[in-house]
Amino acid sequence: MMLKPNLNELTKLAKDTHIETKKYFVKLKKKTPKNLDYVMQDLHDAEFKKTNCLDCANCCKTTGPLFTSADIERISKHLKQKPQQFIEQYLKVDEDDDYVLQSVPCHFLDSDNTCFIYDVRPKACREFPHTDRKKFNQITDLTLKNIPICPAAYNIVEKMKEKLPL
Ligand code: SF4
Ligand code: SF4
Repeated sequence: MMLKPNLNELTKLAKDTHIETKKYFVKLKKKTPKNLDYVMQDLHDAEFKKTNCLDCANCCKTTGPLFTSADIERISKHLKQKPQQFIEQYLKVDEDDDYVLQSVPCHFLDSDNTCFIYDVRPKACREFPHTDRKKFNQITDLTLKNIPICPAAYNIVEKMKEKLPL
């Protein structure tokens, strides 16, 4: 069923659909539809036409991106800092050896949900929740983690189950 989750109900909806979605993703990997990229692009575009991320910012508040070395170079330059200074001030290394934020909400998130470094923000921020990624069948584990965070990702996956029954 399609619902329009707000952040309060998202946690419950994500929990309630978790097993079903997990099973769906297992089937998706075994039996990937030929038109998957096309359908995902469509669902992603339709969802983000009606979703205003400025009303949400839950990704910036609760998770945060990983920072590639290109991200670190670009952002530190923008902030007129040395990359090493930027790393020491804002980042830490996580269990996968990636640079991530030291704390959330993200330091660069303003009170009106805009991003102080929007033009130079990390690639992962630009691409979140990755629902228009080509070969979506390869990022289902990541998506399962993103669904409880992102109402748009939840909606897109629920629509996906309708559009691509497996
Ligand atoms: S990407 Fe998802 S979690 Fe982030 S602000 Fe937009 S709807 Fe919210
Ligand atoms: S860098 Fe900007 S877009 Fe990325 S998590 Fe922080 S506030 Fe959000």
